[in-house]
Amino acid sequence: MQMPDTDISVVGGGIVGICCALSLQQAGFKVCLIDREGIGEGCSRGNAGHFATEQVLPLATPGLLWKIPGMLMDPLGPVAIRWPYLPQITPWLLRFMLNTRSKPFNIGAQALEALNTASLPAWKRLLNGTGEENQIKIDGSLLTFEQDATFQQYRHTTLEKLGHHNVKSEILSGDQARDLEPGLSSTIRHAVMFPDTGHTANPYRLAKSLGELFQRQGGRIIQKEISNLKAVQNGINLTLNGQQVQTPRLVIATGAWSKPLVHQLTGISVPLDTERGYHLMLPNSATSLSIPVTSAERRFIMTPMNEGLRLAGTVEFGGLKLPANMRRATMLASHAHALLPGLEDSAGTTWMGFRPSLPDSLPVIDQVGTSNQIILAFGHQHLGLTQAAVTGELVRQLALKEKPSLDLTPFRLNRF
Ligand SMILES: Cc1cc2nc3c(=O)[nH]c(=O)nc-3n(C[C@H](O)[C@H](O)[C@H](O)COP(=O)(O)OP(=O)(O)OC[C@H]3O[C@@H](n4cnc5c(N)ncnc54)[C@H](O)[C@@H]3O)c2cc1C
Repeated sequence: MQMPDTDISVVGGGIVGICCALSLQQAGFKVCLIDREGIGEGCSRGNAGHFATEQVLPLATPGLLWKIPGMLMDPLGPVAIRWPYLPQITPWLLRFMLNTRSKPFNIGAQALEALNTASLPAWKRLLNGTGEENQIKIDGSLLTFEQDATFQQYRHTTLEKLGHHNVKSEILSGDQARDLEPGLSSTIRHAVMFPDTGHTANPYRLAKSLGELFQRQGGRIIQKEISNLKAVQNGINLTLNGQQVQTPRLVIATGAWSKPLVHQLTGISVPLDTERGYHLMLPNSATSLSIPVTSAERRFIMTPMNEGLRLAGTVEFGGLKLPANMRRATMLASHAHALLPGLEDSAGTTWMGFRPSLPDSLPVIDQVGTSNQIILAFGHQHLGLTQAAVTGELVRQLALKEKPSLDLTPFRLNRF
């Protein structure tokens, strides 16, 4: 049976899939958006809400190789491993380590620079005239330092590299940082302001309202699970909760769950895994900050949101099945109290999400299949919110057979 009234189906109703669906709809396609959980219930639900355009350096930085084993030893450290998952994650970690070499690192940085530079303009175009424009504030964000040594090292390595990749920044003293954010502790000695970054006060609401907008404009949302994908001459055959259907074209935007779907369609085993991340949402603390603040030493971010202050971050290698270790979320409270001494004591709610990560820190944005009937848009790691709208535009250009506005070579599936 053909999917009724559909030119293209998008599977995955996270922020990436929604932006793809909206962008395709704006180009005149009849689009059906499919998600087993509903809109915005995956990783896009609880992220830090930071449009982190300054993060143009791949995570596998030169010199990191020798630090990784030590970092993984502390179960409550910023990067942790669930030891039963070690055999499954080892090939990913080996590929990640190979990416710390300067050649792949430089290619990755150039690709991320291109994607991140285009990110906020794409968000503006997507939201323009929708009534949702105010959901994104471009007020900048602060990176803070409590130790002179960390700051000096950051300044002479990372910040210099960011400058080469056209990231705007301004170095501030601790006092200048406190002028901007009076709640910050006197222990903060230095800060870097990234003015061309932004945040949303509720990433879940952003996803939901874009889903509603898509529906108001005639888009169809189906809450079902997709399985048994097979590319055929005129499209893709698939099973939707047990029912066989055919769609002419399909966008795979299933985040951390994309690997088996891509394998069924292409035979390629993409090295996608998940960097699990956590948040602790502190209610009644919304006014304690006005822009996102990250701690360089403690490696987490605090973002002011509508319902309070969101503390988020950390990386845990533990796959898609092991239960969450919410101590990784609750431990963030003590770090926040150290940076914001006036923070009210409140219990907070915890959350864990599955970042979809490839070892080179780049997403897959590509078109495959004998008649190019499959479009891939997954693997946005720590930057899915930031890069969702530009990914949607690139997917639309692929669907329209237009020349993509960015060179897609670094994002192709065949790099693996
Ligand atoms: C703690 C934390 C903080 C973060 N902070 C930021 C930040 O500040 N800025 C930023 O840019 N990024 C941030 N990220 C990363 C960002 O959240 C992700 O990159 C992004 O949400 C990925 O979006 P997605 O649409 O690809 O995946 P998801 O949001 O996970 O959506 C995938 C969807 O696919 C559906 N699905 C999967 N398989 C199937 C199937 N077979 N059939 C039907 N449906 C299926 C799932 O139900 C899910 O809804 C953060 C992540 C974490 C964990």
